[in-house]
Amino acid sequence: MKIDFANLAKAHEEYQSEIDEAIKRVLGRACFIMGEEVALFEEELKHFIGSKHAITCSSGTSAILLALLGSGIGRGDEVITTPFSFIAAAEMIALIGAKPVFVDIDPDTFHIDTAQIPAHITPKTKAIIPVSLFGLPADMETINAIAKAHNLIVIEDGAQSFGATSTNQAGVCKKSPHHSGLGVTSFFPAKPLGCYGDGGAVFCDDDRLADKIRALRIHGQSRRYQHAHIGINARLDSLQAAILRVKLKHYPAQISRRQKVAKLYEKYLANKPLARQKIPKNTQSVYAQYAILSPHRDKLEKNLTAHHIPYAIHYPKPLHLQDCFAYLGYQAGDFEVCERVAKQILSLPMNPYLSEEEIAFICECVI
Ligand SMILES: *Cc1c(COP(=O)(O)O)cnc(C)c1O
Repeated sequence: MKIDFANLAKAHEEYQSEIDEAIKRVLGRACFIMGEEVALFEEELKHFIGSKHAITCSSGTSAILLALLGSGIGRGDEVITTPFSFIAAAEMIALIGAKPVFVDIDPDTFHIDTAQIPAHITPKTKAIIPVSLFGLPADMETINAIAKAHNLIVIEDGAQSFGATSTNQAGVCKKSPHHSGLGVTSFFPAKPLGCYGDGGAVFCDDDRLADKIRALRIHGQSRRYQHAHIGINARLDSLQAAILRVKLKHYPAQISRRQKVAKLYEKYLANKPLARQKIPKNTQSVYAQYAILSPHRDKLEKNLTAHHIPYAIHYPKPLHLQDCFAYLGYQAGDFEVCERVAKQILSLPMNPYLSEEEIAFICECVI
C-alpha cells in the first residue's frame, strides 16, 4: 500500500484532458497576463463564493498584502491575529510596518480564541485577521460582532478554507473566505483548490475597496502609467486562471470526497482517546488537513514512518516564538494553548482519493 499525502498527481490525471485543452487555448492566444481567462475566472469565482467582487492575484500572501494595503493599514497600526498558523498573515502585517498582536487559540478548534480578543484591542488596533485553519471557518460571527463594536476591519485568511461554509444564528449560510465581507484565499497547489504554481484571490463586497485592490495589484495604476497608489505586481497568470477554471468546475465534487474521507477517519477513530479539530455545529470544513493531537507525538511519528504513512506537522513552531518576530518581545509560555498544540499536533494524509482500506490502515497505526 503506497499512501499519498495530498495526491496532486491523481487530481491531474482525473482532469488531464480538460486541463490540456485549457492550456492549449491560452498558448494559442499568446495572452499570458490577465486577459479573458482571468476575467472569466473572476466572474466564476465570485459566483461560487457569493461575493460582489473577486480579485485574483499572484498568491495567498499577496492577497493578504493587497487586502491590508487596500484597507489603508500601515505604520503604527496594530492588527490582531493568531500565533498558530502559516506565517503569511503575521508576516504581511509586519512587512507594511504594522504590528502583529497575537492572541492565544481555542483548544478545540485551534482558531484564535475569540473570548480573549477584546482584552488585546487598543486605540491603535485597526483590524483582526482570523485564520480559518485546516479548512474550517473560524468563529466569524463572534469576530464580526467584536469588530463591529470596536469599528475594526476583519480580513478572513481563508487560504485553507476556500468554499467551506458556516451558517449564522440568523440562518444565513456563507462561504469562506466571505464571512466578513473581506477575505482572501490561496491557490497554492496543495490547498483544497490548487493551481499549477502560485495563485490567490481577494473577495469583497465594497466597490471602492475592490477598485483600489485592482489598482494595487498592478502598481497602483488607475489608468495606463497613471499611478494613484503605491502598489505591487501581484497579477495571476492567464495559464493558472485557465487551469483553475477547469478545477473550480469540479471543486464541489472534490469537497464532497474530502468530507467523505473525514467521515471515514471519524468512523475508524471513534471512541479513541485522541483529540482532533472539533467541527462546530452549523459549520462545514473543506478539510485542507486532517489534524489530530497526541501527547506522544514522537512515538506516533516513528510508528507512521515505520509503516510508510506520510504525515506533516502544521505547525511545529508558534509564530510568536519565530526569530523574525523576536523584536515583538514575546516569550515561551505567553500562549500556553498554542504552545501545547504545536507540540502535539500532526496532520494525517488528506486528499479526495484516499480509499477506505487506506484510511483503516492509517487509523490502525495511529491507535
Ligand atoms: C498557504 C497559506 C497562506 C499563503 O498562501 P500562498 O499562496 O502560499 O502565498 C496564507 N495563510 C495560510 C493560513 C496558508 O495556509
